[in-house]
Amino acid sequence: MILILENSFPWIQQKRRCQCATIQTAIVLILGLALKIAIAKTLNESAPVTCFVWVTGVVDRDKLIELTMMIATTIGQLSSRYGIVWLAIPALMMLCSSCVSIQSNGIVSMQVHPSPNWNERQCPVSMLALHYTALPTCEDSLARLCDPTNSAGRVSAHYLVDVDGTIYQLVDESKRAWHAGVGSWRGLDKINDRSIGIEIQNIGMTEDGKRVPFPACQIDAVIALCKDIKARYGISNRDIFGHSDSAPTRKIDPGEAFPWRKFAAAGVGIWTDDFAEPKKSVPEMLSEIGYDVSDLDKAVVAFQRHFYPEAITSGATNTVGRMAAVCLAIRNKKEAE
Ligand SMILES: [Zn+2]
Repeated sequence: MILILENSFPWIQQKRRCQCATIQTAIVLILGLALKIAIAKTLNESAPVTCFVWVTGVVDRDKLIELTMMIATTIGQLSSRYGIVWLAIPALMMLCSSCVSIQSNGIVSMQVHPSPNWNERQCPVSMLALHYTALPTCEDSLARLCDPTNSAGRVSAHYLVDVDGTIYQLVDESKRAWHAGVGSWRGLDKINDRSIGIEIQNIGMTEDGKRVPFPACQIDAVIALCKDIKARYGISNRDIFGHSDSAPTRKIDPGEAFPWRKFAAAGVGIWTDDFAEPKKSVPEMLSEIGYDVSDLDKAVVAFQRHFYPEAITSGATNTVGRMAAVCLAIRNKKEAE
């Protein structure tokens, strides 16, 4: 018999997630152990009991279905009424976490905070655009993204992710949020019509021009959200990009401190640490990756920001070699997909 516990108790998750991750995991481990012993005793140790403890804090739909099936199968196998009583406890716990998860597209700790800034989409979703807010606090960002009257223009995004990993859903995914503005990717414009937009709470730069790092729990939450969106819409890794990639002449977010490598390691987006021998010209390579090269210098800097941040932060010089390697990585990924 296999028992899986999910450590996404909603009443804990809604608190600040980072600080309580360890406590949460400990609670689940203890409960898991207690349940394992209890079930083994109920069954007079006639059936081997395996207890897996899931510690990611994120449930996706497939996993929920799998869990439900598992509980149903296990209950079916038990003849003892005590066994059923014991199984009711994890089932109840899973129900608690699944309520939250189903409402929130598979992500725990999501809050709905509607923005009035949206209209109808003209195209199906095929892209994922990442931003930072460039505002000091999440409250400032929520206010700006939900402001119907701002003289600098009305803006929004589908999601805003705070530094503690809390996700705010501002615009329904089926609607067109206003985050990308004028731009293009892989020859396609109307980015707002084609994309889901995620704003990440980060001021961007300090007053003395230093980049502000993204906390690990925030990045974990953004990655989980991206994976969920990517899976639901079948978005290709090469269509996951930053605002500066689709608007190189106007934007610099999410910036060279953004951990694209970590995203790619989790299956979100393209990354390589390699360099290769270029077989094409710089504009040809940049176009192949997705950039609008009408302002070539700006497109090169946008490429560096995303795929070769060392060029910005420490003056690394093999940009062309990295471009060739990224083109290669995209081709390899395409074959693998
Ligand atoms: Zn942006």
